[in-house]
Amino acid sequence: MDVLHTLYHEFVGFFNVDGVVKLFRTGNYQSLLTWDGITAAIGPFIPFLLVIEIIRAAVYKRFKIEDYRVPFLIFVFNRFIGRFISLAMVALCIGFFSKYAIFTATNTWYWFIYGYIVWEFGHFLYHYWGHKVRLFWCLHSQHHTPETMNLSVTYAHFFLEGAYADVIRTTVCILLGVNPFMLGVIMFIDGTWGAFIHVGENVIKDARFGFIGRLILTPSHHRVHHARNPLYMDTNFCNLLNIWDRVFKTYEPERRDITIEYGISRKVNMKNFFDVYFGEFYYLFKDVVKAPGLKNKLLYIVMPPGWSHTGEHKTATIVKREYREQEAASQQTATIQPAYEQEKAIC
Ligand SMILES: [Zn+2]
Ligand SMILES: [Zn+2]
Repeated sequence: MDVLHTLYHEFVGFFNVDGVVKLFRTGNYQSLLTWDGITAAIGPFIPFLLVIEIIRAAVYKRFKIEDYRVPFLIFVFNRFIGRFISLAMVALCIGFFSKYAIFTATNTWYWFIYGYIVWEFGHFLYHYWGHKVRLFWCLHSQHHTPETMNLSVTYAHFFLEGAYADVIRTTVCILLGVNPFMLGVIMFIDGTWGAFIHVGENVIKDARFGFIGRLILTPSHHRVHHARNPLYMDTNFCNLLNIWDRVFKTYEPERRDITIEYGISRKVNMKNFFDVYFGEFYYLFKDVVKAPGLKNKLLYIVMPPGWSHTGEHKTATIVKREYREQEAASQQTATIQPAYEQEKAIC
């Protein structure tokens, strides 16, 4: 019976339905007008959407177990430790940095917008460094290894990544005046939207969302972020408002002439949990060991993935520049060619 009890709690915990169950049990529907009631009602949205996604894939015979296996294993692996470390870090940062806050925002709508912009800035910093600093990439790469997009990808994270992300995001917010209640509300919205943007093509094929896509970050933008196509690497770091991507020139919309290829640049053995979870740590360790001198060893840790002490860098910036140059050259050839053909015809 203990096993059944544990399974029941795991089920309720995963689907976030404890709030909804309580709502039905007590019949206190008035609580839907309170913050707790709203979060309880929205909580099960992503897990249930994931189930719909899997059912749709199964009905259309597109369900492949390997699309879900790694995120599921990572989810189970992180289930207990990761969540608690992350929560503890948020509490620690609030406690420590509150006294250094430049001011404290009140709970008004305009300060809420300010708070969200500040949060996005913290999110941008954490995410940007997660791609541009090799050690931090080791904590983030697990989220990028899946080679298809579906809602289970939202659960694929290294267990320490939440703590690393929340230290940066919480510290930035608290120092810039976001109060803990507002921070909690923002975190809930960010978490729900951050999960939704992983919805697969199976459920929403074209997720550009028209005009809305100009104002907010859509699943289409996040698909671009998860792509390993040269043009798409290291773009769209924001979560809901993509203002900071526009400010720091990392914004990239989805092009109709480019088919998205998901995953990371190196070939990952998706059947090997060790390769997915610790692979990037392993390759960083190998590079550090073989690098000559202490300076090069340290540079491998802090420089972007693809940096090499030999000078033959294969960073995202360089790969992208080469791609753009190639594309520009082939476009030039395409325009010169007809002109040349025309000239030949006249002669
Ligand atoms: Zn990323
Ligand atoms: Zn993602």
